[in-house]
Amino acid sequence: MARKHNIIVIGNGLFGSIAATLCRAHGHTVTVVSDDQPYAGSGASGCVLAPSWLASLDKDQIADAMTVLRELYTVYDLEFKTNLLKTFKAQRVSPEEVLVKADIVGRAELSGKGQVIVQNGMDKPETLRGKVLVAAGVWTPNLVQGMPPMRSLWGASLIVKAQMEAPRIHVYAPYRQAVAFNLDKRRVWMGDGTALVSSTWDKEARERVQKTTARASELFGLPVNKATHNIGARPYVEGHKAGFFAQVDSNVWVSTGGAKNGTVLAALQALQFLRVLGAVS
Ligand SMILES: Cc1cc2nc3c(=O)[nH]c(=O)nc-3n(C[C@H](O)[C@H](O)[C@H](O)COP(=O)(O)OP(=O)(O)OC[C@H]3O[C@@H](n4cnc5c(N)ncnc54)[C@H](O)[C@@H]3O)c2cc1C
Repeated sequence: MARKHNIIVIGNGLFGSIAATLCRAHGHTVTVVSDDQPYAGSGASGCVLAPSWLASLDKDQIADAMTVLRELYTVYDLEFKTNLLKTFKAQRVSPEEVLVKADIVGRAELSGKGQVIVQNGMDKPETLRGKVLVAAGVWTPNLVQGMPPMRSLWGASLIVKAQMEAPRIHVYAPYRQAVAFNLDKRRVWMGDGTALVSSTWDKEARERVQKTTARASELFGLPVNKATHNIGARPYVEGHKAGFFAQVDSNVWVSTGGAKNGTVLAALQALQFLRVLGAVS
């Protein structure tokens, strides 16, 4: 029988949540620590699994990731109507089903030898020990020294109290698509793929959120006066288009990257983590 581990996951975005859920499903004890950053990428994600965003992964990797997602969650089919002639097929999972709550809310740091120190607002920080997975999104370099350069790619999505007849994609510029679909019977998710580096986002955030909102109204006729905006930073590791998963210390691994294809990559790296622990073949 495979050995059961005590695992500490830092971060409860898509990468941390999927890894935590998969490890728990395989019988490991998992503690999720998060400081609940307001601009975490995952809070803005629609968790759409679009084939065109997965070009950096090979067929087997996509198949492995999809097996993990199907094992853990409901995977919905989406058939988008587009403003071009053809329809566009994709899938999605529900962010609300995927994202887990932190077991400990607080800021974690690594102290070596698999020790995680968590500042949780109490007088004394908490010390946790085990196999550590750092899934801290764009904040990963704060925890792990010597990471390759990372970029934060900023954007916003909308959740609108409305219903659509069918999922829709509108190509509004070369390689630029706005996407809208029903999250459930009351809410529509809408995103336009805006991905700006921090320096541009800092200058243009307000204007860009307004632009995304205007697109929701103009392209899809959504009642944006009832919209909630979610701003998020996507982690992208320079030179690692297909994501970054690596062991960085005797008991510490890092799982991040991928920019737009976060959901599939998170599932793939969750499986890679189980494999390095010797928990699955
Ligand atoms: C507008 C938008 C739409 C998107 N749509 C899609 C989509 O449809 N499909 C898709 O696949 N991807 C999508 N993405 C991309 C996807 O959201 C990202 O790839 C993904 O969110 C990255 O997840 P993560 O877990 O690495 O990071 P994050 O979600 O940023 O999570 C990092 C977590 O680490 C925690 N943390 C950081 N430092 C510490 C610390 N020291 N101690 C404790 N906790 C810490 C943070 O609080 C946070 O919870 C979208 C992104 C954006 C912005």
